[in-house]
Amino acid sequence: MSEERSLNFLEEIVEADLAAGKHVEIHTRFPPEPNGYLHIGHAKSICLNFGLADKYGGKTNLRFDDTNPVTEDTEYVDSIKADVRWLGFDWEEEHYASDYFDQLYAYAVSLINKGLAYVDDLSAEEIATMKGTPTEPGKESPFRNRSIEENLSLFTAMKNGAFNDGEKVLRAKIDLASPNMHMRDPIMYRIKKIHHHRTGDTWCIYPMYDFAHGQSDSIENISHSICTLEFEVHKPLYNWYIAQLGIFPSNQFEFARLNLTYTVMSKRKLLQLVQEKLVDGWDDPRMPTISGLRRRGYTPLSLRNFCERIGVQRRENIIDVGLLEFCVREDLNKTALRRMVVLDPIKLIITNYPEEQSEILKGENNPELEDNGGYRDLPFGRELWIEAEDFMEEAPKKWFRLAPGNKVRLKSAYIVSCTGFEKDASGKVTAVHCEYIPESKSGQDTSGINAKGTMHWISAEKAENAEVRLYDRLFQVEDPSSEEGDFKSYMNPNSLEIIQEAKIEPSLLEAQPGEQFQFIRKGYFTLDSKLSAGGKLVFNRTVTLKDAWSKESKK
Ligand code: ATP
Ligand code: MG
Repeated sequence: MSEERSLNFLEEIVEADLAAGKHVEIHTRFPPEPNGYLHIGHAKSICLNFGLADKYGGKTNLRFDDTNPVTEDTEYVDSIKADVRWLGFDWEEEHYASDYFDQLYAYAVSLINKGLAYVDDLSAEEIATMKGTPTEPGKESPFRNRSIEENLSLFTAMKNGAFNDGEKVLRAKIDLASPNMHMRDPIMYRIKKIHHHRTGDTWCIYPMYDFAHGQSDSIENISHSICTLEFEVHKPLYNWYIAQLGIFPSNQFEFARLNLTYTVMSKRKLLQLVQEKLVDGWDDPRMPTISGLRRRGYTPLSLRNFCERIGVQRRENIIDVGLLEFCVREDLNKTALRRMVVLDPIKLIITNYPEEQSEILKGENNPELEDNGGYRDLPFGRELWIEAEDFMEEAPKKWFRLAPGNKVRLKSAYIVSCTGFEKDASGKVTAVHCEYIPESKSGQDTSGINAKGTMHWISAEKAENAEVRLYDRLFQVEDPSSEEGDFKSYMNPNSLEIIQEAKIEPSLLEAQPGEQFQFIRKGYFTLDSKLSAGGKLVFNRTVTLKDAWSKESKK
């Protein structure tokens, strides 16, 4: 797939830069802020950054953009590293913007010394109002023309904790009439007397994103700094700091962020869902986080293929979540082990199968694999569990499942012919009766009978119980973030269906977290890594076998 496509615009830029000798080797970075778990949008950024470096023989750093101590935490750092590795990428160097605090401070001092930065006593509000509007120039702060000496001594005092939060900031002295609002004397440092998850209480002043990001890129000799479109307007400032400091000229390039239908993709919103317990943590299988998708049963390859398929654009758009589901189906069809599970069981009694008799049949593991991926044992006997919905008392003409008089093949077993059923006092069918045709055994069928339908089943005697969780979209509308009011009011109340006692075939007792299964006719499933414990098995449905949903919604 990837070999045939034409170059994307980032690859074109890299190839041109390499051809022009602008860089000998390309160097990218993935720069998450450790204030939440990574989501599928980050996966796109990861695939782009690591993908570019891989393709052109360069390197990629992992850099934690940890300049805001308020929201950051080591739990997030650990999860981010685990997620990047799980996606299949390995970084060259691991860095933290906080490791550069000394260097960034020195850069700030050097700008003060050049007369390019000043300490301002105005409040954040005053600064904002005096900045003007895009059509109206801003007004100078009365503190703008402090002497270099005064600025140096005030900035040192800021660093030493002489002032309270909000009392003073350090600003760059650029241009209050610039049409780009980011160039109107942006704030470089603010006071925050808060513990930092890495630097502890060493610092009480913290650099703003703009004063940290480009310089961090430069310190690491990043040649191509790739970010999302909202940073396009920051680019002149990014370049200004680098030029004034005379440091390695990293370059920023912007692409459109990934948006997916029926979900939200900002860490702030995802955090709300977690904190308000509307989901079972960051890794809830309905979350668009990498950890949620992993717990749901998505594979690293399916996510990488998805990122490759959506490509990279310069314009915002929203991708149909159906494409993500297509990618995981495509992968799992090739790898998942086929198993039989009955979600809504009723008994099937084979009246001509002797009570004392039983046998072990063989079920193929995966017909897509060589030699069917081997075979597993399938115990068979007189009483089986089948899906309640596979029987109808009075069936329409084209009903190929069980109904009185119908013949059906039991997958990997025999053809049976339905002879009757039992009902309880309320009229509910409690058991279906049939007779089996001994010479119709799968693989050695000499019966000459052609059964149109095939059904899954499980030996009632050997069946085990498991909980099965079926998921639906987390939101009922395509783009909850663009709707009026609270995005949470658009959540789908039926996004989780729990089946307490599904019947599973005994081979599934050995299921391991991370193993993928196709429950025949029911979808792709994986063992839940969090809820399966102490002999209890919980399976998550990764995705249905077909895209039933999009058809459903168009009805
Ligand atoms: P969010 O808005 O979800 O909190 P963010 O941009 O604040 O995301 P960061 O941790 O700062 O998150 O992002 C790390 C990198 O991932 C950045 O380069 C950012 O541009 C990129 N990124 C974040 N969200 C997306 C997305 N939806 N699609 C593509 N790239 C993204
Ligand atoms: Mg951010």
